[in-house]
Amino acid sequence: MGMKTDMRLIDDNGLRIDGRLPNQLRPIKMQVGVLKRADGSAYIEWGGNKIITAVYGPHEAYPKHMQDPNRAVVRARYNMASFSVDERKRPGPDRRSVELSKVISEALTSVIFGDKFPRTSIEVYIEVLQADAGTRVAGITAASLALADAGIPMRDIIVGCAAGKVDGVVVLDLNKEEDNYGEADVPMAILPRTGEIALLQMDGNMTYEELTAAMDMITEAAKKIHQMQVDTLKSKYRGDEDVE
Ligand code: UDP
Repeated sequence: MGMKTDMRLIDDNGLRIDGRLPNQLRPIKMQVGVLKRADGSAYIEWGGNKIITAVYGPHEAYPKHMQDPNRAVVRARYNMASFSVDERKRPGPDRRSVELSKVISEALTSVIFGDKFPRTSIEVYIEVLQADAGTRVAGITAASLALADAGIPMRDIIVGCAAGKVDGVVVLDLNKEEDNYGEADVPMAILPRTGEIALLQMDGNMTYEELTAAMDMITEAAKKIHQMQVDTLKSKYRGDEDVE
């Protein structure tokens, strides 16, 4: 973020390096029920991101001291495959993936009716196979589909999406170059029906007005992504092809 460069990210026509308008999403494709041994699963392609998610549970939490007598413990694990990025990623958890696992666990916990399953654990695996910026939000979007696929009761299907600022312009859904060379990145997860925010982070610098504009852009896009999630879940039971 904010790396010095001569590279222009917005051209004279106001278009971005991949030809998108400021408020335009990258192409998104989703699919549920892709793994037969998980209780729920989903696959998402979002721009250059390719992410598979799986849910196990709820099942009795083990070791026992991990149990919460009142509710399910939701444990998300965000992992990047070593082949998912340009510079081979060292396998195993690092600071970044530990942080992401934590914030994603908290976001998902906030929508799950955990009190229906005391003493249990619900594990959510987010495996990034190919990364191109926005993996945490794409991961949350797919993870909530996998949770729905597992039949876990939730207040809503959560949507993750990012916005940010590049060349002084507030833009939706940053790609890798925009993430690297832009001024700010704001990943957010929301419940589209109520507008509740389940995750909000910011890297870089923006004014209050720019942040508000970014959040409004995400809220608008989230409605569209939410509709795709609903269509994806419905299509599984009709046996349709992937939703695009
Ligand atoms: N990235 C990378 N190597 C890493 C971590 C990240 O190449 O070890 C890339 C990857 O494409 C990722 C992007 O940088 O999607 C942005 O990473 P960030 O930490 O902002 O998280 P994200 O936007 O993916 O949620």
